[in-house]
Amino acid sequence: MTNRTFTIIKPNAVAAGNAGKIIDAIIEGGFRVIALRLTYFSRNQAERFYAVHKGKPFFNELVDFMTSGPVYVGVVEHENAVAEFRRLIGATDPAKADEGTIRRRFGESLQCNAIHGSDSDENARIEWSQFFSDDDIIIAEYR
Ligand code: GDP
Repeated sequence: MTNRTFTIIKPNAVAAGNAGKIIDAIIEGGFRVIALRLTYFSRNQAERFYAVHKGKPFFNELVDFMTSGPVYVGVVEHENAVAEFRRLIGATDPAKADEGTIRRRFGESLQCNAIHGSDSDENARIEWSQFFSDDDIIIAEYR
């Protein structure tokens, strides 16, 4: 399953009206969107999602941010999806992200960096399983 990864269009990007442009950039980047849904993170979900950062000074602020408004969660497909998607979105800090990347274009700060991309195949599956059943994704395979 090395050809799929999980993404979140984060609350700042949805609130700014940039979700459509970001989905466009994902598709123009050669990815196939195979699942996509508008939802909210509960505090529990956000704390679980970012558990690796628990104890860091920015953890509470990050959870506040991720629960501050609606997000799009999605699964996208591409050869070598995890690495290619992280290349498309750019570095964590939008100010350090390459020109033309999604975080450079739509990120507002290190925290409000517009979009998430999983960092490994294993984490991608764990993350999308919090939002999508296998059936949601199988439907896309009939297209
Ligand atoms: P990613 O894999 O590129 O998303 O980066 P990380 O796993 O290191 O961080 C997860 C998310 O936490 C980032 O995408 C940012 O939204 C946020 N974040 C990371 N580092 C910081 C920080 O130093 N301060 C704040 N406020 N947020 C951060």
